[in-house]
Amino acid sequence: MSLKTDLCKETASECVFPNYGIRNIVLTGGKGTRVWDSDGREYLDFLAGISVNNLGHCPDRVIEAIRAQVGELMHCSNLYLVPQQVELAQRLCELCFADKAFFANSGAEVNEGAIKLARLYSKAKFGENRYEIITLRNSFHGRTLATLTATGQDKIQKGFEPLPVGFRYGIFNDLESVRALVTDLTCAVMIEPVQGEGGVTAASPEFINGLRELCDTHNLLLIFDEIQCGMARSGKMFAHQVYGVEPDIMTLAKALGNGLPIGAMLARREVADVMQPGTHGSTFGGGPVACAAALAVLDEMRDSAIPERAAKMGDYLRSGIENALRGLPVFKGLRGLGLMVGIELACEGAEIVKKCQEHGVLINCTMGNVLRLLPPLTVTEEECDQVSDLLALIIADHAFSAHPV
Ligand code: PLP
Repeated sequence: MSLKTDLCKETASECVFPNYGIRNIVLTGGKGTRVWDSDGREYLDFLAGISVNNLGHCPDRVIEAIRAQVGELMHCSNLYLVPQQVELAQRLCELCFADKAFFANSGAEVNEGAIKLARLYSKAKFGENRYEIITLRNSFHGRTLATLTATGQDKIQKGFEPLPVGFRYGIFNDLESVRALVTDLTCAVMIEPVQGEGGVTAASPEFINGLRELCDTHNLLLIFDEIQCGMARSGKMFAHQVYGVEPDIMTLAKALGNGLPIGAMLARREVADVMQPGTHGSTFGGGPVACAAALAVLDEMRDSAIPERAAKMGDYLRSGIENALRGLPVFKGLRGLGLMVGIELACEGAEIVKKCQEHGVLINCTMGNVLRLLPPLTVTEEECDQVSDLLALIIADHAFSAHPV
């Protein structure tokens, strides 16, 4: 670690909240799949800001759009019309089931909005006593009070009690567990089509289809949180399009601005229209710079056929890893969808993540034993080969000293 990094680490420990734990590298630049630290070391970034930099680091088209807009108007209150916001809403709706969009600044914020929208719609349509939302164990929906309560993980909720009422938890890929929770109080079911933080687990087609049917039968709203799995990562523009099942509400954030903070909540017209003036809002949400960045992201994804590329490279990376790791006793199999890749291990993954970083590859680990790879969707075959080979070396070496899970 350089002196500069050391000093930054020391100062951080004195004056930055300790909620992110200890961080050892300072990234100072990036282009495509590559990032550089303050010592000039190069890394292959196979995490992409946890599915933020889907077009890679610093894509020219997005940079140009941001630069141009910053020079024109940086902020505009939602008291006035923002043309970039209107165009972005129209473009996103053209790409999916939705008729209308609302914009905020992060994933948690748009999930909070989706929870409010589900309650408001259900109360307006079916009466005051319909407010419960069924979410799933091992889900992740954010860190605000309502979204951490929606998150079905005790470790995320611990210490923040009392939690808001109105959330119940089913089991992922177990339709009967969700059906058993539906009562007269239920207004919605909220899921990630591919659970990210919860272990990179894709929903089964039967589960997704069954949830749609269940929601239709009981007049419940189906909410898809596509904050991590959306924006072409699955191999389609939105993960639900892989399943051919439409939600009533969808949330996006992360890769929508490729690094500029923006979140979107999309809904069918009938649902969106319950949000009358005064029910919801955001100072920065849908601002011209973030929307200009997102418009450039959509242009680039369309012109470079990024969803198709993600599907192709997802297959390539998966078969490369499968070939490289086959036969290693700790390798239990692959999970996920498209370029959202989980490597399930029979041992803890933290040490492997650390070794990868030492060898110039950034990945992370969820649920203790699932290595998570979320490379930019612009990743090349050579970069995938490099990472598969390195993983094989590190995991084979690690297997001798590993603690079983
Ligand atoms: N939902 C999902 C599926 C996520 O992966 C995340 C973040 O990791 C969030 C919501 C929260 O997004 P944010 O950190 O932008 O609030």
